[in-house]
Formats: sequence, C-alpha cells, structure tokens
Amino acid sequence: MTVSIIVPCHNESANLATLYARICSIMDACQEPWEMICINDGSKDDTLLQLITLHQRDSRIQIIDLSRNFGKEAALTAGLDAARGDAAIPLDADLQDPPEVIPELIKHWKEGFDVVNAVRLSRDGESWLKRASAHFFYRVINRMSEVDIPADTGDFRLLSRPVLDALQSLPERRRFMKGLFAWVGFRSTNVYYHRAPRHSGKTTWNYWKLWNFAVEGITSFSQVPLQMAAYLGFLVSLLAFIYAIWLVISTLVYGNPVKGYPSMMVTLLFLGGVQLMALGIIGEYLGRIYEESKHRPIYLVRQIWQRHTQHHDNHI
Ligand code: UDP
Ligand code: MG
Repeated sequence: MTVSIIVPCHNESANLATLYARICSIMDACQEPWEMICINDGSKDDTLLQLITLHQRDSRIQIIDLSRNFGKEAALTAGLDAARGDAAIPLDADLQDPPEVIPELIKHWKEGFDVVNAVRLSRDGESWLKRASAHFFYRVINRMSEVDIPADTGDFRLLSRPVLDALQSLPERRRFMKGLFAWVGFRSTNVYYHRAPRHSGKTTWNYWKLWNFAVEGITSFSQVPLQMAAYLGFLVSLLAFIYAIWLVISTLVYGNPVKGYPSMMVTLLFLGGVQLMALGIIGEYLGRIYEESKHRPIYLVRQIWQRHTQHHDNHI
C-alpha cells in the first residue's frame, strides 16, 4: 500500500530540506512504501534546483515542474493526477501541516475510511482577523451550499484511491479543492492537530486573494447569491410599488407642491445600485461559465522527474 505525499511548492526553497528530513523520518518509521510528489508552481527562487538535488539523492521524490505559476489549486490537481499510490496526502511545503500527523491519517485509512480530514484545533502565528474571517467563511459557505465543507480543514487530509479516481473524473477547470473533496463524499473521519506557524518565508495569500478564494468557493458550490439577487430585486420592486401608491394617495390628499426631487433621486440611486449588484452577481457566474467553456487545461507541465526516468511532456 503506497502513500503519495503531494506537496505544491511556490518559492519554498528555505523549507524543502527540513520538510524532506521530517517526512523521511516519519514515513520510514511508518513502514509503508511512499513517494513524495513535489509540484514546482512557477517558483522564482531556487526551489526547482533544491527539488532536483533531493530527487537525485532519493528517487522517491518526484518533481512536476509546471510551465508557470498556476496557483495552489491547480498545482494540487497536478499532483493528485500524478499520484500512483493507494492513497494521497496533500501537504503544504511550509511545514504548517505537521508530517507527524500522517501516521494517524494512515491508521484511520487502514480502518476503512476513504477520507481522513486533518482538522486544525488552533492556528499559531496567524492574526485574529484571518482566523475570524476564515471562521466566518466556513459558516457562510456551509449555509449557502448543499455540500458540507468541514470547517477548519485545509487541504491536509488523506484521500484513498477511489476518492482520487472520483476527483479525476470531475471535469471542471476552476478547482476549489476543499469543496471538491467534500463533494465526492465517501466515508470520512477526522483527526485533530495544532497548526504551526510557517517554518520560513512568507505567505502569498493576502486578504484580496483570500476574498477572491472565498468568492470562488461560494460561486463554485452555491447558487444562493443568484437567488438572493432575484429576491432582493423583488423586494425592492415591492417597496417601490408601495411607495408609488403612497405618492398617489398623498398627491390626492395633500395636493402636489412639486417637491419630488429628493425622493426621486433616492429611488433612482437605490434601484440603480441594486441592479448593478444583481448584474455583478450574474457576471460572476457568467465569467465562470465562460472560463469553463474554453476547456483549457488546468495546468501545463514543463518537465517531470520521475523514478529513474526523465522525460519531457508538454500537455497535462
Ligand atoms: N502555493 C502554490 N502556488 C501558489 C501559492 C502557494 O503551490 O501560487 C503553495 C505553497 O508553496 C504552500 C501552499 O501552497 O506549500 C500553501 O501556501 P501558503 O503557505 O502561502 O498559504 P497559507 O498557509 O498562508 O494559507
Ligand atoms: Mg502556509
């Protein structure tokens, strides 16, 4: 039973040696055959060089070098597609997901679970704002979508072969992995751990990126915003209708001293705002449809370093 550890790497050269050492000592104690698939996601530092050195020392390290930075979700997809093991474990290269949890994940897998989520009990070294917004995000997305996305679970988890095959059968281009992991279902269980701060380097996720990630997640897994736009439009029309009736009555009762300018402006701007917002929401979904309809590959591979072989491959 081989375990594939999937590590997306974007400018992680300072972390790789420690990561390798820790994974080696844990996995060798585990006595399962394993492979580590590192995806170089368009790093600007010497991540690739470091990876090649590791690969030459230990052929269990495989490298997929993407043609540019495709983002973490695409890098992860590349790794999961390449995984040959009976189970795969996505793991961040910055050692925020402690490899020490892996034996526990494997234990539950052996007990017959297909998905073993690693749930964060705490997140050291992250601001309260990030924690609060993450908490809020999970609540909102779970209210809005039909799939249950487990809160406080990153991509760190164990996925068995049937789950990996199911994931590969999902054709969508824009991949919100957490949602897809939850969507495919299967028997799942949790293990708990304390999330460490980043080992070295800086996160590339600022609040704007996180916001977009949240929008991505919600639009991938929920149509509630579209419905909300419709209901809001309906509500506003209703209010406008009531207001119109009131205007007619008040004109009949009190006469019309031509003082309509403020109320007209308010109504106009309000309606305009609601319309723009509804259009924006529709646009968000339309953009996704457009993106999907182009059928572009999720990622492009520049080169692969596999066990004992090295060959070029220039499509997915
Ligand atoms: N990552 C990636 N491509 C990117 C950004 C990040 O492959 O464009 C990788 C990164 O190397 C790390 C993981 O995704 O292994 C998580 O990234 P990061 O630590 O920056 O995110 P955070 O832990 O702050 O959510
Ligand atoms: Mg991190």
